[in-house]
Amino acid sequence: MSFESFNLHPRIAAGVRALDYEAPTPIQAKAIPHVLQGRDVLGLAQTGTGKTAAFVLPILQRLMEGPRGRVRALVVAPTRELAEQIHKAIGDFGRQTRTRSATIYGGVAMGPQIHKLRQGVEIVVACPGRLLDHLGQGTITLEHVEVLVLDEADRMCDMGFLPDVRKILKHVPARRQTLFFSATMPDDTRQLAHDILHNPVTVQIGHTAPVNTVSHALYPVAQHLKTALLMELLRHTDTESVLVFTRTKHRARRVAEQLKKAGYRATSLQGNLSQNQRQAALDGFRKGSFQILVATDIAARGLDVSRISHVINYDMPDTADAYTHRIGRTGRMARTGDAFTLVTDDDTAMVRTIERVLGARLERRTLPEFNYTAPAPERPAQPARRGQGRQPATAAKAPRWR
Ligand code: AMP
Repeated sequence: MSFESFNLHPRIAAGVRALDYEAPTPIQAKAIPHVLQGRDVLGLAQTGTGKTAAFVLPILQRLMEGPRGRVRALVVAPTRELAEQIHKAIGDFGRQTRTRSATIYGGVAMGPQIHKLRQGVEIVVACPGRLLDHLGQGTITLEHVEVLVLDEADRMCDMGFLPDVRKILKHVPARRQTLFFSATMPDDTRQLAHDILHNPVTVQIGHTAPVNTVSHALYPVAQHLKTALLMELLRHTDTESVLVFTRTKHRARRVAEQLKKAGYRATSLQGNLSQNQRQAALDGFRKGSFQILVATDIAARGLDVSRISHVINYDMPDTADAYTHRIGRTGRMARTGDAFTLVTDDDTAMVRTIERVLGARLERRTLPEFNYTAPAPERPAQPARRGQGRQPATAAKAPRWR
């Protein structure tokens, strides 16, 4: 199948050509014809499959006819990074179409967003909270929306946006086309899809297991040796661009600092950064000036860096879905990638869950020259901070399971 078979408007086809895409990805091949016909679509696909173009191209096609200067397509996404990525895709594909899109998300001033909306846009890409602010202040109207896209719907539910999304729905005309994309379908997400889609076509790419171009390995290690093992792994692996996940913001910052001290081009992406700092970290990682990005799940949501060669879970994610999402960042577009997870004894149950979801046992690896029994560094006695139970200095136990 080729992009020509979609019969896209020549100006949109030119945008596709400029990006050098050879052929549609499976989700594009399956979804685009239905979306072009105006059908509702339930797309079960994760980031990295090309799902953005699957909804952006047909939206642009629709906008080639009809009025300009009013919001005719609304894309709701869980994070500002994802919103920016979608906005960028619209700009890339729609370069010659004179379509205008605006992003709406919190953490930045409202003024410029209001200004942009006043100038007239056809597409709005928004995160739920700030969009509701605009609706509340009357600085946006959604009464002309013809197409509504919910992207990464499961993530939005995960992040507690479901009530906001339902409020937004009240501002969008009932007669519309709805496109619903989600990597997984937990109960709340399924219910939402059921409530808002009208006779949808379901398009599924693979299933919730990570793309099979990724090879997975577990590295059992004691908690206090994680950073040392991470360094050892980096030393021994030919890594192009590495995304490291930690459980907390504080740890993301600390690990990035330690890597920097060890001479790596590393930075962190976590919720404590200003929008400018986040953008600088992301741009630096995308362009390659940072080789390693240490991030929390929320900060990295929707992150699209096609060259990521390795994902390293410094901390095990809390759910199998989160694992799938993290791993979906590597091995994108059939490039191969490696996913390493540092695991402690506490992670045994989650390892079993993930293995069940993947339908395969994950390989356990040890690094031959690494000292797995090194003691935790002595620290001056101080009261343990709440929620930060520290290993006693003698807790140099090697992981129990292999
Ligand atoms: P997405 O899943 O939409 O985030 O897309 C993942 C990555 O794949 C992005 O970097 C896109 O630019 C790229 N991509 C999307 N469609 C194609 C295609 N048909 N051929 C090559 N790359 C693509």
